[in-house]
Amino acid sequence: LHDKFDAEHDLPPITLDGERISLLLNAGLDLSSEHMSAKYSDGVGLYRTESWFMQRGQFPSQAEQEQCYREVLSLYHPEPVVMRTLDIGGDKVLDYFDIEEENPFLGWRGIRVTLDHPELFLDQLKAMIKANAGLGNLRIMLPMIGHTEEVDEALALLEQAYFELQEEWADQFYQIDKPEIGVMIEVPSSIFLLPEWAEKVDFCSVGSNDLTQYLLAVDRANSRVAKLFEPYHPSVLRALNRIATDCQALELPFSLCGELGSEPEGAILLVAMGYRRLSMNISALNKVKWVLRRLKVTDMESLLEQCLSASSAIQVHRYLREFIIAQG
Ligand code: PEP
Ligand code: MG
Repeated sequence: LHDKFDAEHDLPPITLDGERISLLLNAGLDLSSEHMSAKYSDGVGLYRTESWFMQRGQFPSQAEQEQCYREVLSLYHPEPVVMRTLDIGGDKVLDYFDIEEENPFLGWRGIRVTLDHPELFLDQLKAMIKANAGLGNLRIMLPMIGHTEEVDEALALLEQAYFELQEEWADQFYQIDKPEIGVMIEVPSSIFLLPEWAEKVDFCSVGSNDLTQYLLAVDRANSRVAKLFEPYHPSVLRALNRIATDCQALELPFSLCGELGSEPEGAILLVAMGYRRLSMNISALNKVKWVLRRLKVTDMESLLEQCLSASSAIQVHRYLREFIIAQG
């Protein structure tokens, strides 16, 4: 424990006017430290399975994956764990799986790779579903979805995995459950297809890192253009706001799991938009909670109104600074 934020680590994330906000963890890198505060979060909103793949010298077997996933699911049980299927390509490379491309962020990434390699995808889905037997807190999330066909193909493979496991496990003690399935909203085209996808999936979660990268056409990993990578750009804020409004109208559960939710200013704007589930780095959780506990949603909404009408990120930052000063 090192500061005033940690001193409130065991208090619930409730705003001054009584809104309960679920704060979840982005996990996958270092389980041991994540574990320490696991009991103070509302579960895992993003488990990056590729992190574990990246630490290894070869693809893990289905049995190895099952064991790894079961440890994670047990650790957080009964809280939900949203496991994302393999999201390699772009900035995430495996030493044992060569992807050489001119434009990796626009190339073979995430779901595009696993749909081209259904054997990898099926292995992973089966390992997840088996790991969930007797627990029931698994949710599966698909990265980099931009086309309806990708949703359909992924769902068909999930059906296949489920069907094959039912045959395999016909005489086992545990029931096999079909987990809830969701999509990441991180490719801009997905924003406009939410009405179609809401009928197919159980939830969605915004990946604000990639959504910002693709909306602004700014490489998230290129330091030369780092100052143009601006999640407080009015266009990004308006997109995030539209996603929240659409999901509410469609009654599609939604959350956000990009870095924006780890910043107090970002969390404030997201709560004002209607986000009630934010998934973040463990190092940010206590600070975001501390801030939200001292604010009213109604005040955050007035701030949001200003920020949504801004014409530049500079203006948004000015409104944010004024708000923070006014709130003390
Ligand atoms: C994102 O893109 O915002 C996200 C959460 O996924 P990743 O950072 O792993 O690409
Ligand atoms: Mg992403």
